[in-house]
Amino acid sequence: MLLTLTTTFEPATDLGYLLHKNPARVQDFSLAFGRAHVFYPEATATRCTAALLLDVDPVGLVRRRRGSAARTLLGQYVNDRPYASGSFLSTALAQVFGSALRGTCTARPELVDVALPLVARVSALPCRGGATLLRELFEPLGYTVEATRLPLDPTVPEWGDSTYHDVTLTRTGRLTDLLSHLYVLVPVLDDQKHYWVSEDEIEKLLRHGEGWLPDHPLRDAVTTRYLRYQRRLVKTALAQLVEEDDPSLADVDGSGAAPEQELEKPIRLNDQRLRTVADEIQSAGAQRVIDLGCGEGKLVRELLKDKTIERVVGMDVSPRALNIAVRRLQFDRMPSRQRARVDLIVGSLLYRDDRLKGFDAAALVEVIEHLDPPRLAALERVVFEGAAPTTVVVTTPNAEYNVRWESLPAGRFRHKDHRFEWTRAEFAAWAERVATRFGYTATHKGIGPDDVEVGTPTQMAVFTRSGA
Ligand code: SAH
Repeated sequence: MLLTLTTTFEPATDLGYLLHKNPARVQDFSLAFGRAHVFYPEATATRCTAALLLDVDPVGLVRRRRGSAARTLLGQYVNDRPYASGSFLSTALAQVFGSALRGTCTARPELVDVALPLVARVSALPCRGGATLLRELFEPLGYTVEATRLPLDPTVPEWGDSTYHDVTLTRTGRLTDLLSHLYVLVPVLDDQKHYWVSEDEIEKLLRHGEGWLPDHPLRDAVTTRYLRYQRRLVKTALAQLVEEDDPSLADVDGSGAAPEQELEKPIRLNDQRLRTVADEIQSAGAQRVIDLGCGEGKLVRELLKDKTIERVVGMDVSPRALNIAVRRLQFDRMPSRQRARVDLIVGSLLYRDDRLKGFDAAALVEVIEHLDPPRLAALERVVFEGAAPTTVVVTTPNAEYNVRWESLPAGRFRHKDHRFEWTRAEFAAWAERVATRFGYTATHKGIGPDDVEVGTPTQMAVFTRSGA
């Protein structure tokens, strides 16, 4: 399978900087399913083309038991994967052109946001849904689409056409956007069960769909097709949980929250935080509550104890965390009335979602610091504009307090997954900006022992919708 990317932006060889691949060299990469080769069939100042050639190893796939999607023994070895530019192309894009996909360019950062005249050509793109779907997917994003349907076998014309198309997409825009569109839409067109199954697929879809997928006319179809396999995976995993304790979950238990909890244990900060947040929600008089980034469901459990709360929904991007929550909350043994009060849903805070509407209060406990700062703006809109509950309680570490953790090396975050930790002034400034923009008022409280110099280890802001 072959993907070529061409630009006539001058100097066209700048494409090499954006792709982090030198036009003068042929480069090879070893991937889980075969090899990838990057080379430039043409590289002049006026026109430059980069080619990504994938050499899928079907036998290796079977050996590594990644080919289990094939239903027959023969099908495991003889299938379209070596030739079709299907879901493997996305994996290769992420691995070989990862920085360009993310929109980073160390050598020429200013190039990232330049709208370049770009032509992407994908050979043998499986289009289940035909050229019509292909157009419906790419044209709303501003592409000119040319597609030639390929015969099943040119030497046997009576066999007719295949589902494979030779596709050319033309658009002037950022390279990172083009790569994101391909990353998401190629597997959507392929519509095969993914050969690999990983739970962070949902997160990947949302990350690469940011900025365009929410407004795409076929958003729902794209999401359903992309996540088809994963949805089933989530359901199956939840069903299995009742029957067996999966030992791999213990590992998540350990690797997820443990270091931070270990640090905070002596002062039982976690318990204090949950109690304080639950009290805040209770005193706001909320009856329908959503815990955003609920993790393993500790706050959900705490909230269920309060009989004045009618409904509690926990939402998280991680199916693994939700699996643990299902087990901890003992869904299988819950009386039916109690069970009717609670739900756990998979979703992302970066993605507008109608399921988040209709709640009186939302909690974001130790969640915002897990997001890259540029993505916070999406979260703000999803929570304060889309969901828009009367009360929003947000907690986050107070970075100033970190000097008081003796076991924490200076300058380090409390958890390896934290993308930032804010001082009190930084958090207050953020809260103020969000409150002003979305029509809320924010009040602040500390949680944990109050140190005269550095304040409390956790900081909390309670947002109340103005006029509520
Ligand atoms: N609120 C829980 C968990 C905090 S850890 C508690 O206090 O125990 C942060 C949680 O945020 C993780 O479970 C992680 O999966 C979730 N998370 C991270 N990014 C997210 C996103 N974009 N959307 C939804 N949840 C997210």
